[in-house]
Amino acid sequence: MTNASCMNKKDLLEQMIATHPTVPQEAIVKEDLLRGGVAFSDDALRVAAGFQPKSYFIFSFDLIPIKEMGERRDDLHAPEEICLQGGPSNFRRTIVSVRLNPASPYRIEISDDGKMVLTVESGSENGNPKRTIVTEVSYRPLPEYYARTLASGRPLHEVAPNIEWGYLLYLTVYRKCQYFGFEEECRFCDINENYRQQIAAGRPYEIVKTPEEILEALEIIAEMDETARAYTVTGGSITSKLRGHTEADFYERYPLAIEKRFPGRWISKLVVQALPLDDVKRFKDAGVQIYHPNYEVWDDRLFGIICAGKNRYVGREEWHRRIIDAAKVFGPDYVIPNFVAGIEMSQPDGFRTVDEAIASTAEGLEFFMSHGIKPRFTTWCPEPLSVLGQRNPQGAPLEYHVRLLETYHSLIRKYKLSPPPGYGEPGLGRAVFSVSAFMDCF
Ligand code: SF4
Repeated sequence: MTNASCMNKKDLLEQMIATHPTVPQEAIVKEDLLRGGVAFSDDALRVAAGFQPKSYFIFSFDLIPIKEMGERRDDLHAPEEICLQGGPSNFRRTIVSVRLNPASPYRIEISDDGKMVLTVESGSENGNPKRTIVTEVSYRPLPEYYARTLASGRPLHEVAPNIEWGYLLYLTVYRKCQYFGFEEECRFCDINENYRQQIAAGRPYEIVKTPEEILEALEIIAEMDETARAYTVTGGSITSKLRGHTEADFYERYPLAIEKRFPGRWISKLVVQALPLDDVKRFKDAGVQIYHPNYEVWDDRLFGIICAGKNRYVGREEWHRRIIDAAKVFGPDYVIPNFVAGIEMSQPDGFRTVDEAIASTAEGLEFFMSHGIKPRFTTWCPEPLSVLGQRNPQGAPLEYHVRLLETYHSLIRKYKLSPPPGYGEPGLGRAVFSVSAFMDCF
């Protein structure tokens, strides 16, 4: 039997592809890039400077803090997303969010024949490291509106960046979270630390975006952009008040203003806490179509440790009850709670085996899917600015992520559920959801 710890990344990848034939190779590579990040050669980074840049739309989603990036400042030039397509294994089009990691075994570089490619470490030859081409890569052209500014001088791409290859306008209207410090902040989350590092790095990051600024940005986008189909309004949790508003009051104002000015122009989504039913009804009345009350991790003990603030203010059972209640308001298809795939294996408190982690997470999926609710997941990026990222720089094993895709889709089939709305077309070669491969596998 081959010892996995002695295998190079390419061999590990090939083994994973061979032993999980129902998961497309593209999805396996995508999950590995999301869990461990990707490096760029100087040339590949230089080319990226002319394309859509990484916007740091809410968290850092990097495996290295900006202050350790050195003079090259990868954060300023790296693309928001990459498109994998073609190459020796004939990859179908696959969109992947960029998570920077100069130490990753994966690297984007320019091949000898001038193509942009993704390579992976594949052992050594005569003592020299070898790399093998996985697939060809392209970047997304810079949207025209990224060059525009608001009347205040604020860059439009900071107010309303897009992700998912242009499908989703991402409106982080509050860039901090009132769950603060070790006792409250979710331990996988770096929203507050990321805010601090972006300010220190000189990015024009503002804590709060007003509804007026959002509307001003959307006026320009509505004129210049035809790709976006949805927007998400989100930000950190508000446990007391923010500028005089409760969480529901604060966030409700945005869809209300947008839907009044642009009724039905985009699919409207709201990511806030699992709030009481009256608040949820207000969101629906404000024009929200899809509600994301994210439950983050299923296991009872781990929720208490990893999401201590949410556990104290709302409680796990109440959180789940509110998700089920929200489905009565929006319809089960339109309540899509997220979990952060892999944090249940974070140490020192998480599961130590993939079997245990998958069993626990599957229990949560069954709970929601038996009510017709389809959770979705983002692949855990162990950001060093978060508590869990610092302690678990390797994240969860690739095997976990691949088996989660198998489990998720077998449960989708068991409960005869369709792909969730608001994510664009499902399926390999068509999906654009860039922070996990669950849509690529329908
Ligand atoms: S509630 Fe948790 S995950 Fe959400 S922003 Fe606050 S700390 Fe981060």
